[in-house]
Amino acid sequence: MAKQTDFAEKARKASQEKGVKCPKCGTVKIPTLYVQATASKRGSYKFSRQNVQICKCNEKQILE
Ligand SMILES: [Zn+2]
Repeated sequence: MAKQTDFAEKARKASQEKGVKCPKCGTVKIPTLYVQATASKRGSYKFSRQNVQICKCNEKQILE
């Protein structure tokens, strides 16, 4: 069981070090591929892909 705890702890630390902390909310920002559908004049949809950093400040806007 001790090994599992060590591994979990290392994984947790590694993920914290990789992420950039938001200075506003203190949450580690999670890079996410955000796909936005935009209607064109002809009635078809265009999809634009964007890499966004999600933290508590903008998660509600993006994950609505
Ligand atoms: Zn934030």
